Amino acid sequence: MSGGTVIVGASLAGLRVAEALRAGGYTGRLRLVGEEHHLPYDRPPLSKQVLTGEWHAARTALTTSAKLTEAGIETVLGARAVAVDDEAVTLADGGRLDYDRLVVATGAAARTWPGAAPEGRVHRLRTLADGVRLRAALEAGGPLVVVGGGFIGLEVAAAGRASGLDVTVVEAASTPLEPVLGPAIGACFTRLHRAHGVRVLTGVPITAIEESAGAVAVRLADGTELSAAHVVVGIGAEPNNAWLSGLGLDDAAGVPCDARGRAGDRVWALGDVAAWEQPGHRDAVRHEHWTSAVDQAAVVAAALLGREPARPMAPPYFWSTQYEVNFQLVGRPDLATSVEVLEAGEDGADRGTVFALADPAGRRVAVAAFHNPRRFLRLRRELQEESAAAVTPS
Ligand SMILES: Cc1cc2nc3c(=O)[nH]c(=O)nc-3n(C[C@H](O)[C@H](O)[C@H](O)COP(=O)(O)OP(=O)(O)OC[C@H]3O[C@@H](n4cnc5c(N)ncnc54)[C@H](O)[C@@H]3O)c2cc1C
Repeated sequence: MSGGTVIVGASLAGLRVAEALRAGGYTGRLRLVGEEHHLPYDRPPLSKQVLTGEWHAARTALTTSAKLTEAGIETVLGARAVAVDDEAVTLADGGRLDYDRLVVATGAAARTWPGAAPEGRVHRLRTLADGVRLRAALEAGGPLVVVGGGFIGLEVAAAGRASGLDVTVVEAASTPLEPVLGPAIGACFTRLHRAHGVRVLTGVPITAIEESAGAVAVRLADGTELSAAHVVVGIGAEPNNAWLSGLGLDDAAGVPCDARGRAGDRVWALGDVAAWEQPGHRDAVRHEHWTSAVDQAAVVAAALLGREPARPMAPPYFWSTQYEVNFQLVGRPDLATSVEVLEAGEDGADRGTVFALADPAGRRVAVAAFHNPRRFLRLRRELQEESAAAVTPS
C-alpha cells in the first residue's frame, strides 16, 4: 500500500490539513500521527475556561473518532516521531511510517525553567494534561507565583484571581509583554492585573526556584523571596522539530518554509513549529497563533491538492482574554519601532484603547486593541487589504 500523506502532529494544524484534504477530494491514504493519547483538542481554553473551571476539559475536543473514521483519516496516537528520512518517519517504539508526502505539524513545547525546580509544584502549560493538573493546583489554593509576564502567564494570573488566589507575576522586562509589544502596551497589562489584585513585579529576574518547608521559594535578583504553593513558569515555547534533523529541518527558529509552507521536495510544515516566509517581507517567522495555524492549513492543503490557495494569507492575528478584557492583535509587532494611540479608552481608561504600531519608515505594521472589537475589526480589514495589495503582482 502507498504511504500516502502522513501528518505528524495531531492537533489544530494537523487536523485542519487532514480535514481540508478530504473536503478537497483527496482520496489517498491519510494518517494523522500524534504523541499525545488524546484526539485533537483546542489549546486556548486551557489557560482560560478550563483553568477557571468554567469548562470541563472534554469540551476542548476539536473532533470525534466517528468523524475521523467517516472522513477516512487514520489516527496513530500515543506515537512520538523521533526521526525521519526521505522515505519514512520513525516512531519511538521503532515503528516506521512510509510517506509519499509528509506534513509536519508538531507545534511547540513550553520552555522549562533552566535551573533545578521542585517537582509537583512547578508547572508549565501546554497540554491538556498540564491544564488539568494546574486546575487542580489552583483549586488546592495559593499563593500562586507566575514566572513570566507573557500571554500564557497573564492568562494564568487572571485564572488564579478568578479562583480567589493570592497571585504574583514576576517579569524580568520593564512591563509584561514588553519584548513583544513594547512598554506602552505592556503598561496597560500591568495596570489591568494590578486593578484585579495581582502583585506585578517587573524588571527583576528570578535567580532560583526551590523547595522550602512544604512550599516553593522563588528568589529574585534583588533579594526578594516569594513563597508559593504553586509556581507556573511561562517563559515561551520552542518548536518541536529536533526529530527532523535527518532532513536538515531542525533549525532552532522553526522549520524553514516558503510562503506556502513547503519545506522540502515532499515535505510541508505549518503551525507553531513552522517559520513561513512572510508575504511582502523577506524574513521567515514562526507565529504561535491559533488563526495562523488554521489559515496555513488551508494553504498547505491547497498545495497538496495541486491548487492555488483560495485566498492570500491574511496578516497574523492573535487574541487573549484576561478578566473581562478581550485583547486583539493583528500584524507584525516584531517589525515595529513606534506605538501610537489611535483611540483612547473612555475617560482615559485602558479599556477601549486602540494602538497602531509602525516600522522605522512609519508604515503601519500592526494594530492592537484593548477591548474595542468594532474599531479593531475595521483596522484589521484595512491591514489585510494593504497586505494583499503588497503581494499582488502589478
Ligand atoms: C495554553 C495556551 C493558550 C493559548 N491561547 C491562545 C489564544 O488565546 N489565542 C491564540 O491565537 N493562540 C493561543 N494559543 C496558541 C495556539 O493554541 C497554537 O498556536 C496552536 O495550538 C498551534 O497549533 P499546532 O497544531 O501548530 O501546534 P500544537 O497545538 O502545539 O500541536 C502540536 C501537536 O504535535 C504533537 N507532537 C509534538 N511533537 C511530536 C512528535 N515528535 N511526534 C508526534 N507528535 C508530536 C504534540 O503533542 C501536539 O499535540 C495558546 C496556546 C496555549 C498552549
